[in-house]
Amino acid sequence: MGLNTKIEWCDHTWSPTIGCSKVSEACNNCYMFRWAKRAGIDPHTVHRASDKVFRLPLSKKIKSGDKVFVCSLSDFWHEGMLPKDRRDAWDIMEQRSDVTFLILTKRPENIDIAMKENGLRPLPNIWCGITAENTRCWVQRMKCFSETELYRQSPVRFVSIEPMLGDMTMILKHDLARHDIDWIIVGGESGGIESRPLKYEWAEDVRKLASHYNIPFFMKQWGAWQPLRQDAGEIEQNIVDKCLSNDIKYGKWIEDDFYRARGTGISGFCAPSHSIYVGAKNAGAVINGELIQEFPNEN
Ligand code: SF4
Repeated sequence: MGLNTKIEWCDHTWSPTIGCSKVSEACNNCYMFRWAKRAGIDPHTVHRASDKVFRLPLSKKIKSGDKVFVCSLSDFWHEGMLPKDRRDAWDIMEQRSDVTFLILTKRPENIDIAMKENGLRPLPNIWCGITAENTRCWVQRMKCFSETELYRQSPVRFVSIEPMLGDMTMILKHDLARHDIDWIIVGGESGGIESRPLKYEWAEDVRKLASHYNIPFFMKQWGAWQPLRQDAGEIEQNIVDKCLSNDIKYGKWIEDDFYRARGTGISGFCAPSHSIYVGAKNAGAVINGELIQEFPNEN
């Protein structure tokens, strides 16, 4: 429910509330639903975490200067979050002005209403952003987000394209010139063989566009599937060799039959031989031979 995390772009996660509802394709394999099942918790209603968890940022475990990802097991702007819970969480973030809190949402259309109704005001230590996994979600969410007071006042506006589920080159070319985005995170889907692959060129295009617009770019992970470029370099070749020598134990080539047999309904999503299943840990985050994990300038 919180504290130290494997998420590379923050120091801790903190979920003052738990529970959510699925809104788009990115939610299909939501980690929270799997986690709640294991924990015996109802994932469908948003409820307040225990006092100990709720007050976590006030503990000494969170150090000055740390970055805390808020609501990793929920959505801070979910319509089911009680106003009191949102206000109390906001108060805690205000009290810890020495800590940076990062709030991502798939529901930017709720931000202004909740801010007004819950009596919240933007704070200099809260970074706000949206998650958008494909062009359709980007168009809808960026439009809503860019019209909010938080977008105008957030010290850092960021976008997490994770899990990236489609080519977004055209919309990013159009929108990055129009909106003030301070940070872009890209990641593939982890969580097993049913995870959907992130194509190499999708991520590479975002990296190039971010570089073009001088926007810090953070490649979080490829996800469970390792993409292979046509000109497979040393890193990719190593994985291919391991894959071939260990076959099933280490991973499997994508083949149409195999993919369909898993019942994912997305066969043909990624061309055969473009990706191999190796698990997120093995796939890593190296892109074009480099580990690029930049952070925004906070000044
Ligand atoms: S918005 Fe986030 S927490 Fe909610 S269902 Fe979707 S992926 Fe899960």
